[in-house]
Amino acid sequence: MLLYDTHNGRHLHFKSTKALQIVNKIYENENLGSIEIDTSDMSNLETHNFIDTIVINGMGKLQSQQEYPVKPVVLLPILSLNFDVDKFKDITNAELCLARDISNYLLDVNIILNNSCNQHCSQCQNYHKQFFCCFKDSSTEKMNQQSLIKILRQINYYPVRTINITGGNIYQYQHLELFDITNVNTKKEFNFYVHYLNYQENHYVDNHNIHIIVNFPLNISRLRDVKSITKGKNVKYHLIVEDEEQYNMFESTMSEFDIEDFEVHPCYNGNNSFFFEENVFMSKEDILDNNTSMREIFRNQKMNANFFGSLYFFPNGEIKANPNEETIGNLNDDGIVDVINTEMVKNTAWRKIRFCEPCSNCLYQYLCPPLSNYEKVMKRNNLCKVKF
Ligand code: SF4
Ligand code: SF4
Repeated sequence: MLLYDTHNGRHLHFKSTKALQIVNKIYENENLGSIEIDTSDMSNLETHNFIDTIVINGMGKLQSQQEYPVKPVVLLPILSLNFDVDKFKDITNAELCLARDISNYLLDVNIILNNSCNQHCSQCQNYHKQFFCCFKDSSTEKMNQQSLIKILRQINYYPVRTINITGGNIYQYQHLELFDITNVNTKKEFNFYVHYLNYQENHYVDNHNIHIIVNFPLNISRLRDVKSITKGKNVKYHLIVEDEEQYNMFESTMSEFDIEDFEVHPCYNGNNSFFFEENVFMSKEDILDNNTSMREIFRNQKMNANFFGSLYFFPNGEIKANPNEETIGNLNDDGIVDVINTEMVKNTAWRKIRFCEPCSNCLYQYLCPPLSNYEKVMKRNNLCKVKF
């Protein structure tokens, strides 16, 4: 048993049966968070030690019945969501849709404008499955102008704040004028993800946030040019690393170029498990030292904070809740509200929690960060070094 104090991250592990019995009893509804311990209970060493430990660590309190004759009531936190989709299983999707303003569930929109690009990044097909990044395929498909207008029109009426845009090479897309600052809702944040080898000055793109993707092999002079022509613009760098050597080189390049706003994205290429085990996988200490709040623990029981609220719009009109999952709608046939509804009921990504082994049998199931796309591409259910 793990006892975890969300107030300060303090944690205690117990194997004692007595300890388990006491905690289970405290959680019985009729006990309202407090139970009677008498002197004969305390004469048991296991019970005594357990009570002492939780009192010393501020996780429980022992009160004398003589001093406090009225049984104390402790309101134990329980998870109860206003909108728990499992409660709605018996009603139709239409009713579900009418019952709630589900447009609030859409948090970010990801638009892929085209699939063509003249660069030859060796891991192109891996990047976008792990983090938001440009990618190309043989289809050379482009998002139909009317489809893009349809997305932008619909999200205008949604509370969604973040719109991420990428391609292939987005500069090969012919309707970038639709993102002109005078055409879009400026209360929303538009982020353009562009590979540094493809970057070019473009009025429609540069008035928004520019996210420059950089990978190896590194073309230093090109990076220097991009840094210079984007000076004064709203730029963030995204560095893709596959091993420690690349990480170290990026670190020194960023410091040499005086770039502070950057994010590092580890990329699994099928042969760098060791790099992931050493640098990405969490140890028991990492999990326990990350002071997890009660809110996060409850959240991890019901939804996936990495995936929840995202929709991906592909050039061929397909809509997904996650690039690695099945299609849940089509731009030509479905409104965004229908797609949100489908995802809430079908759950291809938004509510995927750690319910598979080994996490389902693990004490840290809801303390751990939610499943990510790394688990998916690495074909495993956990990203940890915890030994069982
Ligand atoms: S620049 Fe982007 S789309 Fe082009 S090959 Fe590289 S990763 Fe793929
Ligand atoms: S097995 Fe799963 S829940 Fe347990 S520590 Fe590893 S990732 Fe977390």
